[in-house]
Amino acid sequence: MASHEARYRYRLRVNPAEAEALKGVFDSCRFVWNQALGRWNDLWRYEGVSLRLASADKELTDWRSRFEWLAAQPSVPEQQVLRDLFASVSAFFDKSNPAGRPNFKKRQSGYATARWTKNGFKVEGTGLGLASDRLEVATAEGRLPLRVVWSRPLPSTPTSVTIYRDRGGRYWASFVVRVEVPLAPVAATGRATGLDVGLSTFATTEDPAHDIENPRFARRAARALARSQRNTARKQRGSKNRARAKTRQARVAATVANQRADFHHKTARRLVADYDRIGVEDLRVKNMSKKGKGRHKSGLNRSIADAGWGQSRRTLEWQATKAGKDVVALPARNTTQKCSSCGAKAKPRIELSDRVFRCRECGLVLGRDRNAARNLNPDRIGTPAGGSEPAGVAVPVGDDGSKPKVPAGTLAA
Ligand SMILES: [Zn+2]
Repeated sequence: MASHEARYRYRLRVNPAEAEALKGVFDSCRFVWNQALGRWNDLWRYEGVSLRLASADKELTDWRSRFEWLAAQPSVPEQQVLRDLFASVSAFFDKSNPAGRPNFKKRQSGYATARWTKNGFKVEGTGLGLASDRLEVATAEGRLPLRVVWSRPLPSTPTSVTIYRDRGGRYWASFVVRVEVPLAPVAATGRATGLDVGLSTFATTEDPAHDIENPRFARRAARALARSQRNTARKQRGSKNRARAKTRQARVAATVANQRADFHHKTARRLVADYDRIGVEDLRVKNMSKKGKGRHKSGLNRSIADAGWGQSRRTLEWQATKAGKDVVALPARNTTQKCSSCGAKAKPRIELSDRVFRCRECGLVLGRDRNAARNLNPDRIGTPAGGSEPAGVAVPVGDDGSKPKVPAGTLAA
């Protein structure tokens, strides 16, 4: 058994007094973030040196001695902010996969967060998220008990809790826990597949029966989002109505995000139930969704963003870890252009508009996405010619070999 870090999220019921106490902590965290980021920017720009975590910690002590309101707030979340900032800075300097530059935090965004570690919080009771348990966090007014909607128990005592207010004004507690995996072992099936993520089908596997169709809610969600955006745009800037419309818009967005996350969990559970090993393309979603030229690319970009493949992939990895199954990242080379039966390269090249792969060498005829999925099957890698079928066997065209169904929000190829 191995140990794995996981996040468990719950809704919080927060009354106005509690909201006020939390706001104090959120404000102090935002202040520390902006202050430390400003210091880092200045040092970098004018002196060419990087602010170090140890010296930032010292500066925090200094700020706390100068600002009474800051000192009144608990120090644990403020120290955590510095750690987060330094993680963002290192991600920014990561040459292999640079993240964006850390930004200053605005109060107006509506989103606010703070994290308490060991000394700053406690789950009172069993500590494992049973109905009678209470969450207590350190605030300027002392320990603040909060009502958590324990939708499921915690697997172990949490090491930290992040409380945040989303843009829709709702409060959430996200616990970090260590879990022993496989947490919920799923019986082996002896099957493996590659997973091709596409436009017409959310994810294509080797077997049409296990394909994941695009979620039905997507079209409705896109409409609801557009409606709430239009509604906000109609309201006068700076007006109360606009603020209300913005909150409503944020709630719609949050609902859609929840639906999407739910869809990813459901599909991931289905895939790990069906397969022991799942091969996925090892490509950087970040690079793939970079702005391209032309309508064609923008359609693809949008659908990648829509489908949220990055999130879906992380969910799949987590569900596989939990179930004791494997997700294998494979280099994304020629998965579309190679015959999954004999390994021959397609001539002429398969274009995005070609829905069917026809092999001139062995006569394989297969839906384009199905062929790509087979090329990504980790169990097929290293088999002669990359395929398991003898040459000359024609596999029937899959459901994706017919006219593609293009989901809402994407452009037809
Ligand atoms: Zn072939």
